[in-house]
Amino acid sequence: MESGKKTKAIVLFSGGLDSILACKVLQEQSIVVIALQCITPFFSYHIKEDKEAWISEVKRKYGIDLMVVDITDEYLKMLKNPAHGYGRYLNPCIDCKILMIKQALSLMKETGASFIATGEVIGQRPMSQRRDTLRIIERDSGAEGLLLRPLCAKNLKPTRVEEEGLVDRSKLLSLSGRGRKGQMALAEKYSITEYPSPAGGCALADPILSERFRTMLSLWDNLDANDFLLAQVGRHFLLSGNSWFAVGRNQTENSKVVKLARGDDLLLQYKDGSGPTGLLRRYKQPPPIEEAASVLLRYCKVDPEEPCNVIVKGVKGKETNVVQAVPFNDETIDKLRFSPPPQNTD
Ligand code: SF4
Repeated sequence: MESGKKTKAIVLFSGGLDSILACKVLQEQSIVVIALQCITPFFSYHIKEDKEAWISEVKRKYGIDLMVVDITDEYLKMLKNPAHGYGRYLNPCIDCKILMIKQALSLMKETGASFIATGEVIGQRPMSQRRDTLRIIERDSGAEGLLLRPLCAKNLKPTRVEEEGLVDRSKLLSLSGRGRKGQMALAEKYSITEYPSPAGGCALADPILSERFRTMLSLWDNLDANDFLLAQVGRHFLLSGNSWFAVGRNQTENSKVVKLARGDDLLLQYKDGSGPTGLLRRYKQPPPIEEAASVLLRYCKVDPEEPCNVIVKGVKGKETNVVQAVPFNDETIDKLRFSPPPQNTD
């Protein structure tokens, strides 16, 4: 049969073992798999730096054709108020899946795919992979009858895709629960030796970062990918007028801070020696430059009593200024750190 006449499926792809296996199980039935990797600043965003290299790597390692789509804009809208709430941290797992499946649905026509599949396994995750939530994800994404979970299909009611014979249900699997034995056996069967460890990788499920994101969402509107990337680098402080000051903790972070600077951002650096790079953003005029300089100097090797020179550089007009400040003490520094917004007790 020509490949053009074969059944095609879009499989949500995270790069983790389960999504790779879901692709392999379908490929084994001669279904043409188009893997779809959705990226946001909270997961897989580094792929953007060299998308083509990643696509080639996935093809070479697993024999899977991959599409990468940045869903940040829709994701940030959803993140403020996810219909199905958050998990333990700021992870809106159910709405996250719904959004990705909607993305896959929107690509069905152009790719010629007949259905969508995921690597979900019933009972594997507390929030998003319970029987009732799998059902909610299918219903609220608008993919009813079109959503197949090849790794646990035999534990679920047959989908339209199986009933219509597009997929042979007898060749699908019945994995369940948190154990990984079934997945390991399948990995061996398909000779998959390299894959990232399960869990991890989502900044929204990180206890510290999620609190930082929550603070940002409570303070500022119009946050974008760059803001959430910056929030994942270095130390963060809230200065006068709710200005945001980020300070790198090492050379790698300092370079990232510089790379993320944009528009009206101001970059600060100790003038007479080495030290971190600071980035001041979302300030009101006049910017709290001396306050920021005092925070920055706390992380430089300087005399705590002596005023020191700090260079302030604009990103846009490239204007440079020098201000004098003394380092803040630890007590003041601690008060300025990003702190979680008050919990809504209504
Ligand atoms: S852990 Fe993160 S990426 Fe995974 S489903 Fe939840 S929100 Fe989405």
